[in-house]
Amino acid sequence: MKKNKLVEFAAAGLPRATAKISDGRTVTMRAFAVKELKLLMMANTSESGQDEQVLQVLDQCIETEGVSAHSLPSHDIELLFVELYKISKGTSLIPVKFKCTNETEDGVCNSPINVNANLNNVSVEGSAEKDIVLSNGLTLNMRHPNVLEREYFNAESEEAFNLAMRCIYSVDTGSEVMVVGTDVSYEEVSEVIEYLDEKSFSQLIEFVNNIPTIVMHIPLKCPKCGHKEVVTLRGLADFFD
Ligand SMILES: [Zn+2]
Repeated sequence: MKKNKLVEFAAAGLPRATAKISDGRTVTMRAFAVKELKLLMMANTSESGQDEQVLQVLDQCIETEGVSAHSLPSHDIELLFVELYKISKGTSLIPVKFKCTNETEDGVCNSPINVNANLNNVSVEGSAEKDIVLSNGLTLNMRHPNVLEREYFNAESEEAFNLAMRCIYSVDTGSEVMVVGTDVSYEEVSEVIEYLDEKSFSQLIEFVNNIPTIVMHIPLKCPKCGHKEVVTLRGLADFFD
């Protein structure tokens, strides 16, 4: 028996799951095995590069031909990772820890609240891919960024503008559609952007401030003071830190 036959045999016994991604394709994944668990342990101990480890794990576990984790929009990656986690662990429950924020007469309550959150309640919030029609008549066809683009450009800083630039897939003049990076360079597009008016500019910024991400709203009740609140987990790091 050749080695790859043996590996195939070993991987065949792992559970599988399918999930739909935003472009309509159905993706099949196998559960993670020891080699992926090692990667994820490395991700937990290193400050940077956590996203890269998640992408690597997904690339190894995705069995559908032609699907690369590195090029999928970031919210697809988040959803695929949640599905992968569920089949790999055999449960949809994850333990999450909070501290009660209730202000009592003696100060903040601070009592620990430990709950099991159900990953089946995860949903995606954010804006759809769309066309931004500028006041000069040009239309910018926007796409969602992949994980590494999103990590590289911090959407909360002045980098928001650079991320918006990066998310322009093509420019439509009304008579011609030019794909950025192919028909027209990033430099040329950034010059066009310099001529935007304020309204068009804010549409671009609004797009990057509403990039879709996974969320889960969890109702909590403090066991000590009885205070109730709903907390929101947003993005992979909130779920699996
Ligand atoms: Zn409390």
